[in-house]
Amino acid sequence: MRSWKNEQVLIVGGGIGGLTAALALARQGIPSQVIEQAAAFKEIGAGIQLGPNVFRMFERLGLIEPISALAVFPNNLIMFDSITGDEVTRIPLDEAFRSKFHYPYALIHRADLHNVLLDQCRKSNLIKLDAAQKIVDVNESNGAITAKTESGKDYRGAALIGADGLWSTIRQIVVGDGKPKPAGHITYRAVLPTVEIPERYRRRDMVIWAGEKVHFVLYPLRTGELYNLVAVFHSNRYEEGWDSYGDPAELHERFAQTCAPVRALLAKIESWRMWVLCDRPPIKEWCRGRITLLGDAAHPMLQYLAQGACMAVEDAVCLADKAVEMNGDYAKAFRAYQQARYLRTGRVQIMARVYGEFYHAGGVAKELRNIMLGSRTPDDAMAGMEWLYGEQKELTQGGRRVY
Ligand SMILES: Cc1cc2nc3c(=O)[nH]c(=O)nc-3n(C[C@H](O)[C@H](O)[C@H](O)COP(=O)(O)OP(=O)(O)OC[C@H]3O[C@@H](n4cnc5c(N)ncnc54)[C@H](O)[C@@H]3O)c2cc1C
Repeated sequence: MRSWKNEQVLIVGGGIGGLTAALALARQGIPSQVIEQAAAFKEIGAGIQLGPNVFRMFERLGLIEPISALAVFPNNLIMFDSITGDEVTRIPLDEAFRSKFHYPYALIHRADLHNVLLDQCRKSNLIKLDAAQKIVDVNESNGAITAKTESGKDYRGAALIGADGLWSTIRQIVVGDGKPKPAGHITYRAVLPTVEIPERYRRRDMVIWAGEKVHFVLYPLRTGELYNLVAVFHSNRYEEGWDSYGDPAELHERFAQTCAPVRALLAKIESWRMWVLCDRPPIKEWCRGRITLLGDAAHPMLQYLAQGACMAVEDAVCLADKAVEMNGDYAKAFRAYQQARYLRTGRVQIMARVYGEFYHAGGVAKELRNIMLGSRTPDDAMAGMEWLYGEQKELTQGGRRVY
């Protein structure tokens, strides 16, 4: 018998969001076609932090085990002052943390996470994966979607999800609000083998040195074989750009006043990759008929809460639930998904900017930050994280859970 579940959903973009959307749909028995512009499905070489909220989604997707096998579970989140090197605050990620949020906090190589998702997609007979196909146009007519590639190929489906990231083409079709906004912050990232990190700096923690207009992050990856290094500073030199090789002279100049550990770690790296950070203000509407957006395409955020990918995964689970709830009426399902998600993702977008101010504070703001964070107990700190990592109770609308 023909059912709405016989018709595929098109997913533009095979990043963390797009692949997770395919898996979430497949778990509900819905077939999909993922279309990726890059020559192969892959992620960049850098680390990513995973909050307990995303593990709640991984449980729904049956992914906790393969992801945990490749992750590091740090002992603490620690903030040092980047000038004095003094400890400002520490949040133990111990039993108390796990029992409060029911899931752990983890660190993982992006390629490892992406490979787990890709492997699961390849195992599913409901998911088709095409690389080297860039979508340039989308049309909806007679209850179906056609997506056209740069080379003239057409894909047809019952609905389409734009999971095509920060520079989303689908967003321009659905929302049409131009380019994302550069934050004036530059990120340099590198991953080094553990042997290259001086022993005294090796620790099973997620560490941040926060200072005026700069911060530096260090954490272990791949069960401790590697370390992820991230340096962020304010600069107006670059308008936009993504994943290019940076100018280490500027990097070292911006960190010249930082404490010895930060400078020693910066000196370890010969080749950095640079990102110009961008986001957008939150919006309420990111659907048009049977077309919707997910992940960075819908709600790009600065990385200061380490939640962009986590939000994309939450989106994916919510969207698949709504498709089933609305019995395959994708226009209704996408509106319900958007309604369930925009306040939460908007809050994370806004709070990520606030955390950026915290990390880069100087003068009185920095003194206040150090005193306020330094005087918190672990319980105070966890209470402040409830809105993000806990079960979503606060933003419940009409008695339904907001993802
Ligand atoms: C420095 C930094 C650190 C971060 N740290 C964290 C962290 O610790 N934790 C966290 O959760 N998040 C973090 N993030 C955010 C996270 O990286 C993103 O939010 C996440 O990768 C978004 O996933 P996505 O699938 O929506 O988009 P993307 O990962 O950008 O994937 C989009 C995909 O779509 C493809 N594509 C684009 N256009 C087309 C087209 N026209 N046709 C076909 N394919 C197309 C692209 O090639 C790409 O593969 C960080 C971000 C940065 C910059």
